[in-house]
Amino acid sequence: MTTKDYYEVLGVARDASGDEIKRAYRGLAREHHPDVAHDKSKAEHRFKEINEAYEVLSDPRKRAQYDRFGAVGNGAPGPGDFGFGAGSFGDIFDMFFGNVRGAAQARRAGPERGSDLRYDVEIALEEAFNGTTKEIAFDRLAHCDGCKGSGAKPGTMIVSCDRCGGSGTMRSARHTPLGQIVTQMPCTRCGGQGHVIPQPCEHCGGRGRRETETRLTVTVPPGVDDGSRIRIAGNGEGGTHGGPPGDLYVYLTIAQHPLFKRNGRETFVDVPISFTQAALGAMIEVPSLSGSVEMTLPQGTQTGTTLRLRGYGMPSLRGAQRGDHHVTVYVVVPTKLNKRQRDLLEEYAHAGGDTIEERTFFDRVKDAFRPE
Ligand SMILES: [Zn+2]
Ligand SMILES: [Zn+2]
Repeated sequence: MTTKDYYEVLGVARDASGDEIKRAYRGLAREHHPDVAHDKSKAEHRFKEINEAYEVLSDPRKRAQYDRFGAVGNGAPGPGDFGFGAGSFGDIFDMFFGNVRGAAQARRAGPERGSDLRYDVEIALEEAFNGTTKEIAFDRLAHCDGCKGSGAKPGTMIVSCDRCGGSGTMRSARHTPLGQIVTQMPCTRCGGQGHVIPQPCEHCGGRGRRETETRLTVTVPPGVDDGSRIRIAGNGEGGTHGGPPGDLYVYLTIAQHPLFKRNGRETFVDVPISFTQAALGAMIEVPSLSGSVEMTLPQGTQTGTTLRLRGYGMPSLRGAQRGDHHVTVYVVVPTKLNKRQRDLLEEYAHAGGDTIEERTFFDRVKDAFRPE
């Protein structure tokens, strides 16, 4: 019998959930385990308290009794009952970790969602621009058609496990110097599922899932970018024990384009122009993802100038405005001239056409230091 407040010992609220109590206990048990603590005798005392509190608060029946009467009369060992021989800590941790393991396996045996799958698809920039559809085929562990995922041969039943009575767990009680320790383990007959399949499905061997080739048509909307992913619900692996299937994620990569570069909604292209087009101005044809576009080149356009074609870039997935198409022009100097071209250009040079108008950086520097 003890007067300690178990809730205080574990540092939890009076209305703490079972999980909160377990978490608090795990943390404290690790911290105050006499094997790791500095002050062994103090740790031992604290460790006893923690275990005593946990033993009561983790058991709903004992906890209810404790809440009503402030004490638990049956079987909860008082501080004096604890002996800490070398073996007893092992028992405590068996109980502790055994429970955790058992609980995890019991959970695993319940309905579980199937895994998500990933499928990679490379598309062309034009396809990202216009949107496209892609046929894909892949193998996955899908629900077995034969048994509808149950694992039982059609017409036969899944029956409750007789070893564990359908609970999926087996409890064993042991008497130790610490008092009675109850270990909960997954049932060895049904593996923690609580049921057995006397006649397994012939197609899947009772697993409820089997390798299935899946063919799908994936719709790629206009405006997708490199790394975009498309979720196709329910086309991942089948769930187990009646759980829902996972999803398929189609990851898109966009192949490099021979002409265009792309950054988000903006697209870029380099276009060669002639010296006369640059000097006199012209209407030129510019390639874009929407086809060729007429663009006005102003008179006196310098090489390397970037002009913008508004709304000729990529569409947006979210329906926002299209991006712009950025056209960088490069003046190409002719390497071969016929006689007439040469004569005209020489005449042009004599007329003063070979003077460079733009003042150089050095001219500007000279101006800046010229005395008044
Ligand atoms: Zn089957
Ligand atoms: Zn069982």
